[in-house]
Amino acid sequence: MSLPQNYKTAGSRREFLASWLGAAVFWKPRNRRKLAGVDFERIRAGAGSRRYLLIHGNEETARQVLTEHMKKASGTAWLAAGHARNAPFLAGELDPNRMFSRDGAERNLRALNPAWSEAHLLNGLLILDRTRRQLTSALRPGAGDVLIAVHNNRDYSVNDELAASNATALNDRDNPHEFCLCTDEGDFQLLSKGPYNVVLQNRPGGAEDGSMSRYAVRAGFRYANLEVAMGKAEKQRAMLEWLDRTLPAPRR
Ligand SMILES: [Zn+2]
Repeated sequence: MSLPQNYKTAGSRREFLASWLGAAVFWKPRNRRKLAGVDFERIRAGAGSRRYLLIHGNEETARQVLTEHMKKASGTAWLAAGHARNAPFLAGELDPNRMFSRDGAERNLRALNPAWSEAHLLNGLLILDRTRRQLTSALRPGAGDVLIAVHNNRDYSVNDELAASNATALNDRDNPHEFCLCTDEGDFQLLSKGPYNVVLQNRPGGAEDGSMSRYAVRAGFRYANLEVAMGKAEKQRAMLEWLDRTLPAPRR
């Protein structure tokens, strides 16, 4: 299959040449963006309104699978440019999947940066309040479409999400590390007919943790989170293709 015409990746020859020539000071790579203090690589593939996300930089299986997937998908992918789970933030660190609410960000910054003063913490929260929208508008899919996030796990599994879910379909019980968490009931109905584990969280209870799934419910867009054990690229590839195929495009 041929690549969409405007398929681009940060590893392009142009970017390589620019850095080799030492022109980086004057030349801003088109496919790198700082959003709410976190560096992202953007892959645009066609004019599709679908969005894709790799938010934890150390989840390299998911990064590889999503990068490959964008050669045939239509939409825009945002991939954390760093290779650690947490992003560097104000001489400390931040889990980027805990910054979608002030409460979640505060809990996360306190936990990760115990040596910070209250003033330092407050400054961090104010910066996030001012810049969070950069990230949420980049990740928001076009009207009626879906944001698909890819993650890898080691210990975490679907069993950790059962209590918080409004509906579950454990169609692949022997592989609890592989599952999809979605926030739209219609999407759940479609996905639950497939061969994989699926949970629906459209009315999440408990403490607000600042994660994307809760943000998507509040903001009113469809979200699907694909979890696969680290290293299982083949399975993640198959599940990402299944998700993209099964989730309907917006009705026009
Ligand atoms: Zn993750």
